Amino acid sequence: MLRVLISGAGIGGLTAALHLARRGFEVEVFEAAPEIRELGLGINIQPHGVRELVAIGLEDAIARGSCAVAKLAYFNKHGQEIWHEPRGRDAGYRYQQAAINRGRLQGMLLEAASAALGGDRIHAGHRLERFEQSDNQVILHFAAGPDGQRPAPRRGDILVGADGIHSVVRKSFYPNEGLPKFGGQIMWRGISRVRPFFDGRTMIMAGHRDKKVVVYPVDAGVGDDGLINVNWVAEDTITDSMPPREDWNREASVPGVAARFVDWRFPWLDVPAVLAAAPTCYEFPKVDRDPVAQWSFGRVTLLGDAAHPMHPAGSNGATQAIIDAPALADSLVADSDPVAALRTYQDKRLPVLAELVRINREKMGPESVMILAEQRAPNGFTNVLDVLTQEELDSASNAYKTAVGAERARG
Ligand SMILES: Cc1cc2nc3c(=O)[nH]c(=O)nc-3n(C[C@H](O)[C@H](O)[C@H](O)COP(=O)(O)OP(=O)(O)OC[C@H]3O[C@@H](n4cnc5c(N)ncnc54)[C@H](O)[C@@H]3O)c2cc1C
Repeated sequence: MLRVLISGAGIGGLTAALHLARRGFEVEVFEAAPEIRELGLGINIQPHGVRELVAIGLEDAIARGSCAVAKLAYFNKHGQEIWHEPRGRDAGYRYQQAAINRGRLQGMLLEAASAALGGDRIHAGHRLERFEQSDNQVILHFAAGPDGQRPAPRRGDILVGADGIHSVVRKSFYPNEGLPKFGGQIMWRGISRVRPFFDGRTMIMAGHRDKKVVVYPVDAGVGDDGLINVNWVAEDTITDSMPPREDWNREASVPGVAARFVDWRFPWLDVPAVLAAAPTCYEFPKVDRDPVAQWSFGRVTLLGDAAHPMHPAGSNGATQAIIDAPALADSLVADSDPVAALRTYQDKRLPVLAELVRINREKMGPESVMILAEQRAPNGFTNVLDVLTQEELDSASNAYKTAVGAERARG
């Protein structure tokens, strides 16, 4: 049986480990962090991603640990509604749209992967430094840890680089690619405990390309105090260049971020108050990378953000990392030649993802209607149909659903 080595125990790497183990492959995962901790704020996993989490046994855990988003609504910067639609099961899909704390999801995946693979197959403190491949194997070499000790090299049949946006595996094939591309905006992210808004299961976005806020609940149900945890992302354009990498994800001033949105007090949500309620927040530059022409090189391939880092428009980054996993596992089942199987996986996924990266960068995915509303009516509108046609409103969402493969979640 094929021995698969995965570098990176993020959402992509752990989901791949579970799909591969389920199909009988021998899997080992190597994570750079000294300990795999539940880190992160909220993310949305779309129904077509939840489908693949259900397939690896996480249905109950997801139902308990997430908010099943019922509605998504877009507003302009004055709080006037541009568009809304039902989501997940409320939209007729077989699976929910799961708004969930990223760390909680990673914890669920880790627990499931530890049970499926055996805990001794998931190795923290193993930062991949380089690898070699020959006609019949790959050999992984790891960086020395804080104690100066270098973990022993590992041999396997194939390597899956699921090591994120700064992937060492990708860099070995594209050494001159450089840093990710900066979109011009800084995103601040936090979690606040607030009174439910609308039906308590609605995700909202307000603003436009240069300045935007996204808010959604991340827990199932309301607490005894009548409040819910909401994740927010506040985004603003900066004139400076991209912050240096060591400053990514640094803590930022909550009042400073709330002050940027001081005028965004809408009848249905007091945005600065929601932001100000967070105990802390973190900043992150909006980045992606140009799509590359190849992910699979012999016995080595890329998955998740290592393969296709994208702007977080359309809430599809982790969702697509999750979908890579069964595509990879199915290709390996279908072809006994791993090199051919990795090429099949690439050919299936790469063109779809290259297009998605482009749509997210150029049009903000389905959020393109927010750009149009700002361009055509910066001072607001009485009726949105004076500003955008019904066809423009409908087609933005429908075209995106086709691009991301949302129909997979129907059956
Ligand atoms: C503001 C923001 C909002 C987002 N919102 C959403 C959303 O709503 N929905 C959605 O689907 N996606 C969202 N995303 C995107 C999503 O977070 C990523 O696409 C997803 O986490 C990628 O998973 P991954 O496993 O490929 O990479 P990562 O989560 O980055 O995991 C990579 C792992 O590899 C490890 N690693 C790195 N280097 C090495 C090495 N050399 N050796 C070994 N291990 C290594 C890292 O420590 C990490 O654990 C958002 C992103 C941002 C920035």
